[in-house]
Amino acid sequence: MKDKRTIAYKSERIRRIAYSLRELLISATMREWSQLGDLQTRRNKSRMEKISIEDKRNLLYKALDDSICMCSGCQQAERDMVYNASLGSWYCTRCSQMYRDFYNKNFSKNEKDLFYESFF
Ligand SMILES: [Zn+2]
Repeated sequence: MKDKRTIAYKSERIRRIAYSLRELLISATMREWSQLGDLQTRRNKSRMEKISIEDKRNLLYKALDDSICMCSGCQQAERDMVYNASLGSWYCTRCSQMYRDFYNKNFSKNEKDLFYESFF
């Protein structure tokens, strides 16, 4: 995938469908995340089983956070999204612009060259 890619829906109908699918995926993921949480708190679970369940919950949430379903910055689902390959995450166009403005305002050219070359 390209370093930066924007997904913006021009058709209102397609946008509504895409946003509904995102909400459906978020809802299903969070339901599974909650069920794992319930399973984790049962008394008959060993410490290792509880750690294993916590790892699954963390991976599940990370997968959702890294997906296009919601912005990694503000957690909104109903916005156009920009993929940031450096971070491996999707950000809404508002957060992406806000981070880009902050980066351009607060870092010198040398800092950008050294650490943040393709960050935003
Ligand atoms: Zn955002």
